Amino acid sequence: MDAQSSMSSLMEKLQSYVDAHPTRPWCVHELWDAVGSKHPGEDMLVETQRSLNHLARGGRIGASGMMVERGEGVCDDWFYWSTKSGKKYLDEFGSKWQFPALSELIKSHCQHRV
Ligand SMILES: [Zn+2]
Repeated sequence: MDAQSSMSSLMEKLQSYVDAHPTRPWCVHELWDAVGSKHPGEDMLVETQRSLNHLARGGRIGASGMMVERGEGVCDDWFYWSTKSGKKYLDEFGSKWQFPALSELIKSHCQHRV
């Protein structure tokens, strides 16, 4: 499989996954775990994020990047959700997806970030 068709097939799989689970947003690490890590290729966490950003730019999924500060520096994470959710912003999903709960979630993901 060449790089281009590999990426479009990964994009299809990622979109199907969020569309099948539209009730909550998914961070890049969860999508990598559920979808990207099962796709053949190298640097799949990076490829997963790249594919998700392509989908978001095309308006096929919602996306939001979040950053939190902690002692050792800044930590960020990206969240993606299905357009079927009808949500435009991450905080519309409820308190779990708003600060301060969200900042705890992001910090817990710092250790396996891109
Ligand atoms: Zn994460």
